[in-house]
Amino acid sequence: MYYNSINNKLNIKSFINIFLNNIPKDKTLFFPFKIPKINKKNFYFLKKQTYIDFAFYISKYFIDYINDENLYKILYNSYLKFNNEVIKLEFLNNNYILNLNSGKTLTFKDIALVPLGFLLNFISKLVNKKIIIFCATSGDTGSAAINSFKNFKNIKLFTFFPFNMISDIQRKQITTIKRNNIHNISLIGNFDSAQFLIKKIFENLKLFKKNFLVSVNSINWFRIILQTIYYCFSSLKLYNNNLINYYVPTGNFGNALSVFIAKKMGFPIGKIIICNNDNYYIDNFLKYEKIHNNNLKKTISPSIDISIPSNFLRIINIYNYKIKNLNKVNKIFYSDKIYNKYIILSLEFFYLKYKKIYDPHTITSLSSLFKENLKFCNVVVSTAYPIKFYFSIKKIIPNLKFNFKTKKIFFLNENYKVFALNFNLIINYIKKKI
Ligand SMILES: *Cc1c(COP(=O)(O)O)cnc(C)c1O
Repeated sequence: MYYNSINNKLNIKSFINIFLNNIPKDKTLFFPFKIPKINKKNFYFLKKQTYIDFAFYISKYFIDYINDENLYKILYNSYLKFNNEVIKLEFLNNNYILNLNSGKTLTFKDIALVPLGFLLNFISKLVNKKIIIFCATSGDTGSAAINSFKNFKNIKLFTFFPFNMISDIQRKQITTIKRNNIHNISLIGNFDSAQFLIKKIFENLKLFKKNFLVSVNSINWFRIILQTIYYCFSSLKLYNNNLINYYVPTGNFGNALSVFIAKKMGFPIGKIIICNNDNYYIDNFLKYEKIHNNNLKKTISPSIDISIPSNFLRIINIYNYKIKNLNKVNKIFYSDKIYNKYIILSLEFFYLKYKKIYDPHTITSLSSLFKENLKFCNVVVSTAYPIKFYFSIKKIIPNLKFNFKTKKIFFLNENYKVFALNFNLIINYIKKKI
């Protein structure tokens, strides 16, 4: 598989080039030179595969540096970490919920970051060099990355999370794991500031000459692919002559982009419905072709409190970087915004009517589905397990009782440094820790 920067189709790179160097020289993003197409004739065979075998089949298109035996081993060891099933489809009211929260840190981020950790560890040994990882997190990527990388000594991880903008449980999941290779930085600012900082670090690679620097945000193409797999898999499982529509709670557009890639590969996917909260950059763009840069608002769905979704660039680029091609984009992507007060009301509604608790991100998709039920088969993407947002949900449903498996983290010490957005100070800190 060959890749190129979205701005320059002529600058062709191989898997290993972009795996160890996530950002092209022109500072945009990488994309496959050509998206592979799956022949419909293979659907019958693929439908019968286990998640691991299916993932192996899809990954092989995108990852070519690792031989089959090792790639299979990496995927096998990764998905073994998910107790029962990697993904679970649940029936609700003529529609389906795609549960992606069976991983250890309780969000969909685990499904991609666990295998990405094994891959990074494998490649780092192969090239015999340490890999330094940077991760900006709106709450969930950080803990998933830490959980995935904590035991790999040749990987060092720096997470950046916005001070006071993530839930207590999210913060504790990040800061209570003590390892020499994990460093947590809380930035005075919001997620956009954290993402900005990471971009700036990657623009100044010469500061870290001797090491490979990798991002585990969705600028990393392989994270997108590892997410694409669950859309290929679930669309095929549900396929029965009708296309499948996916309602996706969206922040940085990584998960939504993954549905799009699955569709482009030929899997039976119809519309992709982008569900935003009060930070509705994409909804505004898709509906009115307007880019608004309102101040970021803090909501009870913090993981999608993002106003500059970096992966959206990849979509705009596929359609030639011209807003006049928005029509084509609009045939595939629908969008909706659910204001915070409606998220709160809906959370209560689903509890009262169905005796079900959903996390506040999943609620954006569920509310959107109930407003505008498209024909054919609809799937709500459930991105997190509700316990992760226990305190916010408890304010809405006071008599709520959860079986708290994660209780232990409340009694552990937290490890993190607070920094203002001062590039030089932060770089000095990182250099000392490398
Ligand atoms: C990360 C996250 C999202 C947003 O996913 P993107 O790929 O950034 O759009 C939604 N919900 C939860 C719970 C998340 O952790």
